Amino acid sequence: MKVAVVGGGWAGIAAAIALADAGHDITVFEMAPQPGGRARSIAGQDPARPYDNGQHILIGAYRDSLALMRRLGVDPEQVLKRLPLALPYPGEPGLRLPSGSPLLAFMRGVLAHRGWPLAARLGLLTAAGGWLARGFRCDTHLSVAELCAGLPACVKRDLVEPLCVAALNTPAPQASALVFLRVLKDALFSGAGSADLLLPRRPLSELLAGPAAAWLGERLRLGQRVQRIEPGWQVDGEGFDAVVLACTSVEAARLTAEIAPAWSSKAEILGFEPIVTVYLHSPGSALPAPMLALREGPDAPAQFVFDHGQLGGAPGRFAFVVSGAAPWVARGRCDEAVLSQALRELSWATPPVIDKVLTEKRATFACTPGLARPPAQIAPGLWAAGDYVDGPYPATLEGAVRSGLAAAQGIGTGAGTGAKGAAKGSPTKTP
Ligand SMILES: Cc1cc2nc3c(=O)[nH]c(=O)nc-3n(C[C@H](O)[C@H](O)[C@H](O)COP(=O)(O)OP(=O)(O)OC[C@H]3O[C@@H](n4cnc5c(N)ncnc54)[C@H](O)[C@@H]3O)c2cc1C
Repeated sequence: MKVAVVGGGWAGIAAAIALADAGHDITVFEMAPQPGGRARSIAGQDPARPYDNGQHILIGAYRDSLALMRRLGVDPEQVLKRLPLALPYPGEPGLRLPSGSPLLAFMRGVLAHRGWPLAARLGLLTAAGGWLARGFRCDTHLSVAELCAGLPACVKRDLVEPLCVAALNTPAPQASALVFLRVLKDALFSGAGSADLLLPRRPLSELLAGPAAAWLGERLRLGQRVQRIEPGWQVDGEGFDAVVLACTSVEAARLTAEIAPAWSSKAEILGFEPIVTVYLHSPGSALPAPMLALREGPDAPAQFVFDHGQLGGAPGRFAFVVSGAAPWVARGRCDEAVLSQALRELSWATPPVIDKVLTEKRATFACTPGLARPPAQIAPGLWAAGDYVDGPYPATLEGAVRSGLAAAQGIGTGAGTGAKGAAKGSPTKTP
């Protein structure tokens, strides 16, 4: 089949490669001058030291993203630094999971956490045992804050809240407990190493988008924003047998407004959460670890800081991450607040200065309880892929890749092509 993939982020790349591997004739339309979407590098003054469009973390459980990298000849062990899950704070060792089976490691790590009173450690293990007994499922309308209401305050502050905002980019009172439990389940139950943190050692574009562009060659059309899709399927007037909409939810809603209005309105109503990344520069400085957790507060926006010098990147470059950043975007001067937080909480060899500030207002969809996400199939022959599409994961690289693979699978198996009864205007075979 001749298949159009609209959007060259991680979801579109995953769909395109799976479809090409299955023998289909693919064309990827990407409106930006480079692929990668939100997970891309941004040029800086020094061409050898680009910035990432926001610090990204992968975990060992990102099975399909890691397999896709390997498919493109990228060795995850080379481009990612693998560390056992640890949440050290400045001056405090924090929670550290030893190696071995993630579930046992979690129990051992919690019991060994000297920063928490014994009752708090036992309280967390009891709650986690309850989640396990219920298969990591809960009422869809429960928030993470409600799920964890009975946990000791120190556990909520040092573990639940930072993990929630890191994984779901949504503050615990507004975040879906069901999705949070699913992330915990995959991290703790996907075998050895699944809870490991995988921190990029190379610019983000080298992880997937660059190799994908080389692999796709002329099948990737850059700088081409798709304006219109018509049943048939016509993509800006060009005929295809099937289409994967792997663009953002906003663009997918626009492109389907006339051909699948019910689906379009589901995509249109999704809310968003921003992420602000503040890069500080401090020559000669180094953190005690490549990644530190920070305690956010009224004057402390960042929840995490990454030392790029320890990650094979630019020495003296530090990425401060402000997730769930809506209040800071509204308030402004987030960068200055981050600089003050950095000066207060960390030691520096030279005074840090603000190097670059990246604000992604629509970094991820707001992962709220009971959220009805749009399904993968829009109409026969028309599929959606993207981190927002209905699935168990929050907006993550792995969620994007899995949705791309699912769309390719749907098209490849003929599950959605040429059948009767499209949402509006059944597609006919293209000329
Ligand atoms: C600052 C930040 C930090 C993040 N941190 C993490 C993290 O630590 N771990 C993690 O797993 N995830 C993280 N994420 C989320 C992750 O980046 C996304 O989940 C993932 O990149 C989404 O991929 P996607 O392909 O679904 O969408 P996108 O990356 O948005 O790709 C969509 C593509 O479609 C293109 N497009 C849109 N409209 C059109 C059109 N009409 N025609 C042609 N092309 C079009 C866009 O240009 C874009 O390239 C972070 C995101 C941000 C912004």
